Amino acid sequence: MDREVEKRLRDHDVRYTKGRRGVVAALASSDGPKSASEMYADVSPAVPLSSLYRSLTVLEDAGVVVPHYGAKGLTRYELAEWLTGHHHHVICVQCGVVEDIAIPEPYESQVRKIVAEISGLVSFAPADHALEIEGRCSRCQ
Ligand SMILES: [Zn+2]
Ligand SMILES: [Zn+2]
Repeated sequence: MDREVEKRLRDHDVRYTKGRRGVVAALASSDGPKSASEMYADVSPAVPLSSLYRSLTVLEDAGVVVPHYGAKGLTRYELAEWLTGHHHHVICVQCGVVEDIAIPEPYESQVRKIVAEISGLVSFAPADHALEIEGRCSRCQ
């Protein structure tokens, strides 16, 4: 994965610095999108907070990292799907945790079919989709 990220950054004339590697590693080992402060817990003190924010901006501009906007205005970040694969999210309305879920192919193709049909109703050509399931996680039930 590092090689792919390095290549993408090189295409954007950006160096793959230690701080940026730290951010990518923190997100790669996460089971869902993470906020800057959650990532900071993983990368500090090697990467200062100001550098973490700069790294996120650079990685987002290069399309390596994508933001996920939470209901309570909290922005979390995750690696783009071209690095991690297509997946969806479950969001706990109680504790706010967001986790990645990859759904098995028979279900995924049903989702694609429903998305195509709904899009057709509003003359929209769908290119991609993301399913967000809100509810309570196992710890909050
Ligand atoms: Zn919860
Ligand atoms: Zn995700």
